[in-house]
Amino acid sequence: MRNRRNRFPIEGRIRAMNSTQDARIKEFEIEVKKRGGNAVMDWKESHSPESRGILFADVDGVTLMVYSDGLISIPAVRTYHPPRYPTPIIAAALATELWAGQKARDDANLDLAKSRRTGHLGPIIDPDLKCRNTNCPCQRESSDVRQRRARGGFNWNPDRCS
Ligand SMILES: [Zn+2]
Repeated sequence: MRNRRNRFPIEGRIRAMNSTQDARIKEFEIEVKKRGGNAVMDWKESHSPESRGILFADVDGVTLMVYSDGLISIPAVRTYHPPRYPTPIIAAALATELWAGQKARDDANLDLAKSRRTGHLGPIIDPDLKCRNTNCPCQRESSDVRQRRARGGFNWNPDRCS
């Protein structure tokens, strides 16, 4: 038998999502279906240095990310808390309402919005962790600072919101 490893080098191949990410996405799909949404999403793994290995999908115009530890997050949205948002999965399933609420608040006070260290002024976040709003502070930040911005204010626990 030929040595397939030599014939098909690993480098450059698309890596499959890890099992924690896979399980989290399945839980998320169940939550979306339960709410009558469309759970067909195109998750793409990032190869960008700012977010390598993190999965990205745009769901109804808002980016979701799934970290390797299973944390699903809405990088554009600053915070979400119980009781309405008890877990990151439920928050992610309600990402469009969270984004709409934040955008209304931000539009009413853009200077305050720009002073925040988390969240974005645009809902779509690319693998370089910048949104597409040229007024957003992320455009001028270092990649370290953008990584902190993407994680949001409080929601670091994959299983529950604080
Ligand atoms: Zn931004």
